[in-house]
This record gives sequence, C-alpha cells and structure tokens, in this order.
Amino acid sequence: MMVDKRKKPLSLSGEFRWIDRIRNTIGGTPEGGIGIGDDAAVIPEGLLWTTDAMVEGVHFLSSWPMDGVGYKSLASSASDIVAMGGKPLYALLTVGLPLSFSDVMYEAFLAGFEKAMGDFGIVLLGGDTVRSGTLFFSLTVLGRPFEKPVLRSGAQVGDSIYVTGTLGESALGLEVLLGKEIHGEKKEEWARRHLYPPCRVSLMQVLVSSYHLTAAIDCSDGFVADLDHIADESGVGYEVHIERMPVPERERGNSPFELPWSYALGGGEDYEIIFTSPEKIPPVVAGVSVTCVGKIVERERQLFWYGERVERENIRRGYTHF
Ligand code: ADP
Ligand code: MG
Repeated sequence: MMVDKRKKPLSLSGEFRWIDRIRNTIGGTPEGGIGIGDDAAVIPEGLLWTTDAMVEGVHFLSSWPMDGVGYKSLASSASDIVAMGGKPLYALLTVGLPLSFSDVMYEAFLAGFEKAMGDFGIVLLGGDTVRSGTLFFSLTVLGRPFEKPVLRSGAQVGDSIYVTGTLGESALGLEVLLGKEIHGEKKEEWARRHLYPPCRVSLMQVLVSSYHLTAAIDCSDGFVADLDHIADESGVGYEVHIERMPVPERERGNSPFELPWSYALGGGEDYEIIFTSPEKIPPVVAGVSVTCVGKIVERERQLFWYGERVERENIRRGYTHF
C-alpha cells in the first residue's frame, strides 16, 4: 500500500508521539552536543550526523525509475545536514534486498546515487547489505557545519520567515508518478522534481556565511508541519501570508484550499529550506530564489490569505480533498 502522506493530519501524529517518547526516555544529550529533536544530531566533536530510510510501498514504488530513487535517497538524507547549516561529507548505505530486485534495477539505483554523490560532494564509505521481504534503502550521513550549527530552536519574535526555491512541485510530481489525474503542462518536470529533489548545499554555505540565520529546517513533511517544528522547538508562533508562498503556476489557484497552494502548504518532500532571520535577505542567493513568507510572533500560529485569516483545519481539509 502506498501511504498517502497528504492524508496525515497536521496535528501530532503517532510517529511524532513515539519520537517524543524515545526523546524523553532513552534518548541522550552529550555534553557539548545535541541529541534528538533537530534535523541532525550535533556530536561533541563538532560534526553533524543523521539517518533516514526509504521503504518500497511507503516512500517509493519499485515501478518508478530506480535512478531517481537512488538520487533521492541520498539527496533527501543529506538535506538534513544542510538544514543544520552544514556540508554533507560522508555516507553509509544499507540496502534491504528482496529476491525480486533485479541487477538492472540495482544498476539504475547506483547510477542515480552516484549522480547525487557528485552533485553534493559526498563520499560513500560503507554500509550493509541484507535480505529483506521489502526493498529498502537506509542512509546515514555525516557532515560538518559551515559555521555554527543552525538549530530548529533559535527562532526569535520579529524574525522574518524565508523559504528557498519553490514548494508544491514534489507533491504534484508524486500524483503524476502514481498515475493520478492531474492537469498541467509540466507533469514530467514535477515527477522529476519528486525523484531529483534539491539539496541546497551551496546556497546554505552562502546564507550562513553572509547572514544571521536563527533557525532552519528542511521541508520534508510539508511547509506548515515543518514550520510547526520550528515553532515547537523555539517556543514561538508565526504569521504566514499564503499568497506570498513560492508556488509553481501561481495563476491557477484562487484559494489556499486549491492547487497549487494546498500542495505548497501541506505537500511535503520539497527539500527546500525554511529558515528564520532578523535580516533582510535578497530575493536571489547563490542562484536560488529566497522568499519572505511571514514573520515569527510570540504565540499564535496564524495563516493569512490576502489579509484574511485562514483556519489551519480548513487547509488540511483542503488538501486531503485531492
Ligand atoms: P527529518 O524529517 O528531519 O528527517 P524526523 O521527523 O525523521 O526528522 O525526526 C525528528 C527527530 O527525531 C530527529 O532528531 C531524529 O533523529 C529523531 N528520531 C526519529 N526517529 C527516531 C528513533 N526511532 N529513535 C531516535 N530518534 C529518532
Ligand atoms: Mg529534516
């Protein structure tokens, strides 16, 4: 069964309850480091460390182009290092192999993986290979902060909220890959965007060396859910102006409950960076657009559509509708 992630409510899901439970019981915080709760752990030696898995039937289907699955497995894992203000350096790859996984598919996966290694400057140093009923890939990535690590917990009242690139194409691409009825001229481009996500290494290097970033996260669960993680960890609220969001084909949707806005807010897997800063950041940095979509406030979490307050609950209903 393909899990439709867009059906996940914006409230705390079971997944996050378990993570909280682990964090509050057996999770550790080393002196001079940071444990569970951010995109990657910070170890006292000053390095960033993260792991992620992609499971057939949950994150991808074996009928999809395997080179894309290979590319995405590394890009999406390395993105957590970038979200901490770091450069991904080394990877370990564990592959769970069912008997049905052919040599041709494996070759394609490795070709995509190698492309991502080249694009982001990552070296593969090891891994594990196991028999498994379900095809899966698990990635561990080690990196180094460009400056100081940028945490989810540093957002301050008055900071602007920025997002890099565009949001929503990955969720549109998922629909295309699942063969759903979807209108638009850029279907191929969207599917490609789902399988070849960005990993904003060079952009983050410029951002952290030129500006003061108070908090950052990569957009994997969906813009609102990920901004909620920043708000949770920083103990703040936010005001977001939906019409300012960088979506593809702006002219199409007339309400925040319609495409493409609904997918930009709730779609996920864009792997763009959401960050906060007290500074005015230029609209293009290192060749990538950077859009200010709102600001950090004391407590409430509010979404606006041309000045009108939008209920978060309606947004959720809006996007589960598709
Ligand atoms: P991301 O989407 O950035 O990969 P996740 O939502 O997967 O982040 O995880 C949030 C935090 O919870 C991270 O710090 C991660 O290391 C931690 N985490 C997730 N699952 C587990 C687990 N099973 N045991 C320990 N820590 C976990
Ligand atoms: Mg992340």
